Amino acid sequence: MTLSDTLRPSRVPDDSDEAVVDLSSETLREEMARAFRPVIRGFLIPAAGYYGLLTIFHLFLQDSEHFYKLGTLSLVTCVVGLYLHQKWLARDGGYRRLEITNLVMNLLMYLNITAALLIDFVPEKLVYFVLAIPLFATSGISVRVIVASCMLSFASLFWFANRAGPEIFFQYTVIGLGGTFAALCMGLLMRGAILKAVRARLVADLLRARAEFQADIDSLTGLPNRRHFFSTLEAMVSAAPESGSPVFVGIIDLDGFKPVNDLHGHAIGDALLVEVGQRIRTVCPPAYVVARLGGDEFALAIAKTLTRDTLNSIGRDICDRLRQPFVISGIGISISASVGFAHYPTNGETVRQIYERADHALSCAKRAGRGGVVIFSRRHEAEMNDFGRIDQTLRSSDLCKELAVLFQPQYDLMRQKIVGFEALARWNSETLGNVSPALFIAAAERSGLIEHMTGILLKKALAAAVTWPDDIRLSFNLSAVDLVSPRSIANIVRIIHESGFTPERLIFEITETSMMTDFERARGSLGILDAMGCQIALDDFGSGYSSFAYIHRFPLHRIKMDRCFVTGLKEDEAVGRNIIRAIADLSANLGVACLAEGVETEAELRAVQAAGIRYVQGYYYGRPMAADDVTDRLAAQDDTPPQEEAAS
Ligand code: C2E
Ligand code: CA
Ligand code: CA
Repeated sequence: MTLSDTLRPSRVPDDSDEAVVDLSSETLREEMARAFRPVIRGFLIPAAGYYGLLTIFHLFLQDSEHFYKLGTLSLVTCVVGLYLHQKWLARDGGYRRLEITNLVMNLLMYLNITAALLIDFVPEKLVYFVLAIPLFATSGISVRVIVASCMLSFASLFWFANRAGPEIFFQYTVIGLGGTFAALCMGLLMRGAILKAVRARLVADLLRARAEFQADIDSLTGLPNRRHFFSTLEAMVSAAPESGSPVFVGIIDLDGFKPVNDLHGHAIGDALLVEVGQRIRTVCPPAYVVARLGGDEFALAIAKTLTRDTLNSIGRDICDRLRQPFVISGIGISISASVGFAHYPTNGETVRQIYERADHALSCAKRAGRGGVVIFSRRHEAEMNDFGRIDQTLRSSDLCKELAVLFQPQYDLMRQKIVGFEALARWNSETLGNVSPALFIAAAERSGLIEHMTGILLKKALAAAVTWPDDIRLSFNLSAVDLVSPRSIANIVRIIHESGFTPERLIFEITETSMMTDFERARGSLGILDAMGCQIALDDFGSGYSSFAYIHRFPLHRIKMDRCFVTGLKEDEAVGRNIIRAIADLSANLGVACLAEGVETEAELRAVQAAGIRYVQGYYYGRPMAADDVTDRLAAQDDTPPQEEAAS
C-alpha cells in the first residue's frame, strides 16, 4: 500500500465535502456539460429523424400549399438537428453550446407545432404540446431553458385550447397542467440527480488530488518529499536518453542542526528547517527540484547541462546562504551545510547509483569539514571501491592481531617536556596492507565494528601506557558511535578498570561532529567518563561548525585546535596568528587547556607559543611511534635538559 493509497478518502464523499473542497461554479458547469452532452446529442438524432420523416410526409404525401410551408419548417428542423449533432457539438460541447442547442431545437419544435395548429387547427393536435413539454424538460441542461420552454408550450396550449371552446379548454388545461407539472418534476429531478453525481465525482477527484499532493509534500517545509523526489528523479533519468539532457543530483546535509534541536527544542528546530528550505529554494532557479529527504537532509535534482564550475558555484551559493545566521523566535542560530553532487550518466545508470554517489560525495564534503561542496569524480569511484573492499576485509580479519597502536608525543611548552601521548590506530591488513586510519575507522563506524575495534585499541594502548611514568598521560580517540552506545561506554569503563591505569591520566578525544549525533546521549557518556576521573578533549576544534552554545554543556578539559590553523599560517601569517590567538583566548575564557595540532616547523611553534598556547603536538615533536620507541623517548627526555629537547 502506497502513501497516496493511505491518504486517499476511503468513503464516498457527500455534500458536506463541498464545504471542505472548493468547487467553483465554472468547474461544476463544465462537468455538467460533460454529463449532459451525450443526453443532448442522443436526443438530436431521433428528433432530426422524426422531422426528416415529417418532411417526406408533408412534401410528398400532401399537396396543399400549406403543407409545403410545414414541410420546409420540418426540413429546417431536421437539418439544424443534424448540424447541431454533427458539427456544433462534435468537438466542443461546453455548457453554453449545449444551452444554445436546447434553445434552438426547442424553438424549432415549438414553431413546428404552432405552425401545424395555425395552418390546420384540429383539437387533437394540441396533444403535440403535451408531448413536447416532457421532452423539453428532460433534454434541457439549464433550469432557465427548461422552465422557459415548458412555460411557453403550456401558455400556447392554453391559448389554442381557449380558441377551441370551453370543453376542449377545460380538457387540455387539465392535461397541460398535469403534464407540465409532471414533466418539470421529472426534468428537474433528473437534472438534480446528475448534478449530485457530478458533484460527488468532483469532490472525490479533488480529495484524491489533494491526498496525492499531500503524499508528495513534506508537511513541515512544503517542499517535495523523499517519495516525490525519487519519482521525479526516476522520470528525469528515464527521459534523459531521449531528451539528451543529463541529470544532476545534489544532497545537502546540515552541520550543527542536531544541537539546535537539543538546546532550543523541536519547535525552533522545525522553524529552522522551514527557513533552510526557503533559503535553498530561493538560491536555486525554479526549474530545479528542491526536496527535503528527511531530518536535516535536503536534495536537488537538475535536468540540465551544467559545467563543473556552475555546479560548484550552485553548491557554494547554497552553503554561503545557509551559513548566514538565522534568527528564530529571537534566537540567533548559526549552522553550515555540506553538499555532494553526482551526475547521470557519468556516475551511474540508475537513480540508486547516482544517489549513492552523491551521498558519497556528501560524506567526503563532511569529512573535509567547514561545509563545502564535493562533486563526485573518478577519484571518488576508486575510493568507493576501496571502501567496499575495506568493509569486506574488516569483517573477515583477525583484528586483535592486525590492529596496532602508535603513540604521538604531546609537548608541554611551559614545563618543556613531553607530558602525554595520543594513541593512533594502525591497521596492517594481511590482504590490503596498511590502510589509512581515516578510511578504516570510517568503515568500522559504517559496519558497526567500531565498538569492537575501540575495545581492542584501548586495551592495547592501556597495556603500553601502564608502563609509562605516572606524570605521562594517554590520549585516546573515541568515535561518535562509541559516544552514543551505552554498551561501548560500559565496555570502556570495564577495560580501564581491568588495565590498572589511573583514570585521571586518561584523556578521551572526541570531535564536535561526534557530539552532534545525539547530544544528550553523548553528554551522558562523557558524564560517566568524567565521573571516573578521565578528562575530555575536544579534537579538531574549529574544523567543523563550532557551535559555542553547547560547548559548556558537557565536561571539557582541553581543546585541540585543528591542524588547519597552524597550516593556515603559511597562507596569511597575520590572519593566521589572529585566529590562533582567538582560539587560545577562547580556551582561556572557558577555563580549559589548549593544544595546537600539526606543528611541523619551528616557525609554527613560535607562532603557537606567541598566542599563549601551552600544549603542542605534531611532527616537530615526533611522528606517531611504536610503544617501544615511546619508552626510549621518555628515557631520553629524562636524561636531556628541557631546552635541548625541542631542538632534538
Ligand atoms: P586525529 O585524532 O586528529 O589524529 C591526528 C592525526 O594527525 C593523525 O593522523 C596524526 O598522525 C596526524 N598528525 C599528527 N601530527 C601531524 C603533523 O605535524 N602534520 C601532519 N600532516 N599530520 C599530523 P592519523 O594517525 O592518520 O589519524 C587520522 C585520524 O584517524 C585521527 O585524527 C582520528 O580521527 C582517527 N583515529 C586514529 N586513531 C583512532 C582511534 O584509535 N580511534 C578512533 N576512533 N579514531 C582514530
Ligand atoms: Ca585525536
Ligand atoms: Ca585532531
